[in-house]
Amino acid sequence: MWRATVLTLFPEMFPGPLGMSLAGKALAAGVWSLDALDIRAHATDKHGTVDDTPAGGGPGMVMKADVLARAIDSVARDDRPRLLMSARGVPLTQARVAALSEGDGGLIICGRFEGVDERLIAARGLEEISVGDYVLSGGEVAALALLDACVRLLPGVMGKEASGAEESFSEGLLEYPQYTRPAVFEGQPIPEVLTGGDHAKVRAWRRAEAERLTRERRPDLWAAYESRRHSGAQAKPASPESRATIPETPGFRAPAFGRPRNDDDGSAKG
Ligand code: SAH
Repeated sequence: MWRATVLTLFPEMFPGPLGMSLAGKALAAGVWSLDALDIRAHATDKHGTVDDTPAGGGPGMVMKADVLARAIDSVARDDRPRLLMSARGVPLTQARVAALSEGDGGLIICGRFEGVDERLIAARGLEEISVGDYVLSGGEVAALALLDACVRLLPGVMGKEASGAEESFSEGLLEYPQYTRPAVFEGQPIPEVLTGGDHAKVRAWRRAEAERLTRERRPDLWAAYESRRHSGAQAKPASPESRATIPETPGFRAPAFGRPRNDDDGSAKG
C-alpha cells in the first residue's frame, strides 16, 4: 500500500478533497493510506507552542525545530522520502510525481507562518518541494496537490493503466485539445479529423497540436523537448508511437497510448 503521513497544524484539512472521487474511492479501498498527524501534539509547554519569533528580527513567526523534530521522530523511520512543502523548494514536476507514485509513499511536512527553522531541514534531511512560484498560507494545500497528483497514478486508481498516458507533461509536451459531444457547440464543430475515424490522422493531428500549444505557451518545455529531439532523441515530431520518457528522470514510466478513463466527476462520455 502507498502510505502518506502528513505532519500539519491542521490535520482536519485531510483527507479533504482527497476523500472524494477517484482518490477517495482508492483510499476507502486501501490502495493508499493517509495519516494526518498534529504537530501541536509534540509541543512541550502548556500553551502548545509550535512557533517563535524569527532570530534577527522581522515579521511573522517561525516553526520551532525542536517541536517539528519530535513530530517527525514520532513516525517510525522507513525508506519513504521526507518532503517539506516549501515555496523555495524544487518545483514539482510530473516526472517527480511519477517517481514518487512508484515508491512506498512519503512523509510530508506542512509549514505555516514564515516557514520552518532551517536547522530542522538539514537535521532531518528534508527535500523541499514547491507547487509553484507563488506563496500559499500553509503547506496543506500544497500537500493535497502533491498527493492528488501521486494517487491518481497508483495502479487501478484511474482504471485501465491510463496513468496519464497522453496527458500534459507526460512526454514533455502539453496535452492536445479535447472535444466531446455535442458535435456542434455554439456554431463550432469538432475538428473534422477527430470524427473521420482515421486513427493515424488523429494521432498525427494530436501530436501537431500538442507541439503547437507547447511552443506557444511554454517556451521552457518546448526548448527542452527540442533539445531532446535534436540530441538523438527518443521523441520524434508527429510520431506518437515513440515512447519517449523524460530523460533526467529515472523511474518515470513510459506512457502507453490510448486513454481509457473512468473519471467519475460528471463527464458524460460514450
Ligand atoms: N516565508 C516563506 C513563505 C511561507 S508560507 C517564503 O517566503 O518562502 C507558509 C508555508 O506555506 C510554507 O512553510 C510552506 O510549507 C507553504 N507554502 C507556501 N507556498 C508554497 C508553495 N508555493 N509550494 C509549497 N509550499 C508552499
